[in-house]
Amino acid sequence: MVSRVIPVETFDLVIFGGTGDLARRKILPGLFRRFCAEQMGGDSRIVGAARSEMDRDAYRSFAREAIAEFDPDAAGHETHLETFLDRLDYVTIDARGETGWEDLAALVRPEVIRAFYFSVAPSLFGDLAERLHRHGMDCDNCRVVVEKPFGRDLESARALNRTIATYFDEHQIYRIDHYLGKETVQNLMAIRFGNMLFEPLWNSQYVDHIQITVAEEVGVGGRGEYYDRAGAMRDMMQNHMMQLLCLIAMEPPAKFEPDAVRDEKLKVIRALDHVPSTDIVRGQYEGSGDCPGYRHQVGNRDSNTESFVALRAHISNWRWAGTPFYLRTGKRLRERASEIAIVFKDAPHSIFGAEAGRHRNILTIRLQPNEGIELGVTIKEPGPGGMRLIDVPLDMSFAEALGPEDADFPDAYERLIMDVIRGNQTLFMRGDEVEAAWAWADPIIAAWEREEAQPLPYAAGSAGPDDALMLMHRDGRRWREVKA
Ligand code: NAD
Repeated sequence: MVSRVIPVETFDLVIFGGTGDLARRKILPGLFRRFCAEQMGGDSRIVGAARSEMDRDAYRSFAREAIAEFDPDAAGHETHLETFLDRLDYVTIDARGETGWEDLAALVRPEVIRAFYFSVAPSLFGDLAERLHRHGMDCDNCRVVVEKPFGRDLESARALNRTIATYFDEHQIYRIDHYLGKETVQNLMAIRFGNMLFEPLWNSQYVDHIQITVAEEVGVGGRGEYYDRAGAMRDMMQNHMMQLLCLIAMEPPAKFEPDAVRDEKLKVIRALDHVPSTDIVRGQYEGSGDCPGYRHQVGNRDSNTESFVALRAHISNWRWAGTPFYLRTGKRLRERASEIAIVFKDAPHSIFGAEAGRHRNILTIRLQPNEGIELGVTIKEPGPGGMRLIDVPLDMSFAEALGPEDADFPDAYERLIMDVIRGNQTLFMRGDEVEAAWAWADPIIAAWEREEAQPLPYAAGSAGPDDALMLMHRDGRRWREVKA
């Protein structure tokens, strides 16, 4: 099988924050990979724009180093790299000042697609948008890409939406949630809506419950200051986990088109019940051995911020009433592993008797590592000795099924940036979706702040606080052991 790469139209992409960590680790290496895949059409150009004083050559060296460090295949593409670097330019700019803006306006071409990637702190989004407008760089053919965090509550998200909307229409705004760019997450939609097999069973009549786990092995690292103001609820639950929940729970959209999909996701968020404090567990990791604990890492001995959260959510609609969604995410857990598990109900009657045990079909969507999908089915254990049942996986590891070439997926950022150029907003969050997700999260966070709730300590390298296990045990269920 040969990958089908669809070239995109010629574009000028300006990366505000072009010298930042995200540009270095994801955006520049991602663009290089798309260039190698011959997807950077015509004479498309990339302009780094940031506060650092540097010239074009210095920026090219910066990009060369970033690509060498973060694209494992770069070494085999030396000739491509030189041609790619020729497409790069740089402008020293201050989002809040006046320097650099005329230079930038002279660089971006009016006749091609223009994309402005706001890879800077959200407090600068308004300044950037206003200056782009003032210097005549906004036009119907241009797009802005905004990074997370999109607000820290409903009020701030609304304010951000209003600010950007002063200068750009909703169809020009691309709010990135890189989880939506993951191959498997899109496969979730293909599996649901491209097959007859699953959709008839995709409801509370057949699904016992759903588990979503996003576990990280690392701690807060160098992001301590930001993280301590956010916590797992704001950093992961309100956005990434919520988006995954929406894709699982939404009704089939009439078409695979941006607003059709986003309308259905929005309905899911609006149908979520308030989560009472009895259905939520918050945790904070402790130090062990050489690993410092959370409070030490963020330099705040009194921090009540959670590095772990687990909760039980209910969606009040016809499809899902009675089927709980258990979500958990945290840092410094046993392994870096993320998956969604659709756990189907037991067969209504076991003809094999009690000794055959309890067996269930589970559809598992692994997000990381080793993206893939697995369907657990019950079969007879081979050999003599009567009808003993076992569960085996029907495994669909993409690498095995498609061959290494086709399973070499673009990184989520690569895919999403190309979607921006194509003008396809399907995998980006709409303003009302983000606001609805904050409207759901706000009362939960407000209650913690009001009560000065203390997160439960958990050991680094564990599965989180024991109370998170109880959240499911009390319902007669248990978390799956999510393995890397
Ligand atoms: P960073 O601190 O490493 O880089 C910030 C960039 O913004 C630098 O290029 C800096 O020169 C530029 N900048 C700062 N103030 C400026 C100003 N006044 N005018 C012009 N440029 C200015 O940040 P980062 O980690 O690259 O993150 C950028 C954005 O992406 C943030 O909103 C962050 O929350 C988001 N994000 C980052 C990551 C990540 O992995 N780094 C992941 C998800 C989201």
